[in-house]
Amino acid sequence: MDVALGLLAFWPALALGSFVNVVAARVPLRRSVVRPRSACMSCGSELAWYDNVPVLSYFLLRGRCRSCGTGISLLYPAVELATAGLVAACFVVFGLSGKAVLAAFFCAVLVAITATDITHRIVPNRIVLPAAAVVLVAHTALSPSPEWALGALGAAGFLLVAAIAYPAGMGMGDVKLALLLGAMLGRLVGVGLMLGMFAALVPSVVLFARHGAAARKMGIPFAPFLAFGAVVALFVGKPLLDAYFSTF
Ligand SMILES: [Zn+2]
Repeated sequence: MDVALGLLAFWPALALGSFVNVVAARVPLRRSVVRPRSACMSCGSELAWYDNVPVLSYFLLRGRCRSCGTGISLLYPAVELATAGLVAACFVVFGLSGKAVLAAFFCAVLVAITATDITHRIVPNRIVLPAAAVVLVAHTALSPSPEWALGALGAAGFLLVAAIAYPAGMGMGDVKLALLLGAMLGRLVGVGLMLGMFAALVPSVVLFARHGAAARKMGIPFAPFLAFGAVVALFVGKPLLDAYFSTF
């Protein structure tokens, strides 16, 4: 455990969180993530640097654009805080290592996908596929083993069967997301998928209670739950798996 390293990583990771916001807001609209500068999505006025400070600016502006007063989604500071917290946790848990950098990249991608699934109900190919390839190659280079490729294929295959059996619940985006999860988690991906599905049961049950059979057609964005399960599996998947097997 290296808490000091985590604290050190937190501040630059807030800036990374800002970039995650840009990616999550622009990629689903097929816009460049590099140009132009950040601007209000409503009135288009460019943000001065002091209105673009992660988390802080949101609260100083009380969640409103300085020019037009349109509300800014609470998702923006949430994405920045989640990215920074997860990246810091990666360095606390994995130390100053290649694995920590890889895990931090993985977490940042999961935050971006969670945001696009909440706002646009999509898991963009242009985020998830390159990320899965990068994680698979980097992980195999860091710890040479077929585990990462097998994890990716196994998890994607499992969700593909689930998506075919229950098309309302899952989409092909979730299948591609499973590729990424397996490449990072290897054999622990089973833990991540199970936790994700259990977590998704909670809103599903609430929807059923409220809307009855009509809830079957509503569906919920599934990627945030898979991302949640994957993050838990990343940090405590091994002890969870050991505890599970020692109970039987
Ligand atoms: Zn504005």
